[in-house]
Amino acid sequence: MGSTATPAVAGLAFDLDGTVYLGEALLPGAAELIAALAAAGVPYLFATNNSSTSGLRYVHRLTALGLPATRASILTSNDVTVSHLRDAGLRRPFLVATPEVEAEYRAAGLEPTGLEAVGGEPDAVVLTFDTSLTYAKLRRAADLIRAGLPYVATHPDLVCPTPTGPIPDCGAFAALLFEATGRRPRVMGKPAPPMAAAIRARLGLGAGAIAFVGDRLYTDVRMAKDHGFLAVLTLTGETRREDLAASADVPDLVVDDLAALHAHLRATGTLG
Ligand SMILES: [Mg+2]
Repeated sequence: MGSTATPAVAGLAFDLDGTVYLGEALLPGAAELIAALAAAGVPYLFATNNSSTSGLRYVHRLTALGLPATRASILTSNDVTVSHLRDAGLRRPFLVATPEVEAEYRAAGLEPTGLEAVGGEPDAVVLTFDTSLTYAKLRRAADLIRAGLPYVATHPDLVCPTPTGPIPDCGAFAALLFEATGRRPRVMGKPAPPMAAAIRARLGLGAGAIAFVGDRLYTDVRMAKDHGFLAVLTLTGETRREDLAASADVPDLVVDDLAALHAHLRATGTLG
């Protein structure tokens, strides 16, 4: 651990992939740390950029892994995007998303338009980690982006880790559309300000009282550093210790895993 005099942590937010679990397996110390936070009444939240599935699916997944989770303790980049669309008065996005995610936007009161724009023209383009992406969707999105509609992406991640290696993610789709249209989206998820604001609001704490725990330097650590959270890097996912020397994103604390973070929180008074 590379920390000196870290401030008191009153609440924590955790990335999921590579931080809490990897594939189908919980990472070392995750179950014990979350149970200890719940028992001590320390507020916590799971914040993920992965916008390929609904928030409810994360509740089921975490619950199946034995972690206490409710819909209120899951914050996805889709949640942040839905709030942004509502605040901006945009109700009819052309949504590049899986059917499950499209259903979630509908349940939130929005009216995503399909390829045929049945019932009216779209008022925005929303790019997500659409694992059902087709050329027809890309073509329609490019037309609407070139036409100047508000254009947002749930997150900037270029690839998503899988057991067989990294696969194209939302940021790679945005790069493709940039080459075709010359426009880049406004990003909602980590490391962008809308996700950081949503984390503060959900936890009901100021940034300085929140530790953000993640495995990726250019999303997790960057968001934490840009927005005044305590930036905790766990080495259970994408980043290796030797990557730190070349990184512009420097965490406040580096831990081998959540068991080590648990010990740190006990030593610094967040957990008794
Ligand atoms: Mg991760």
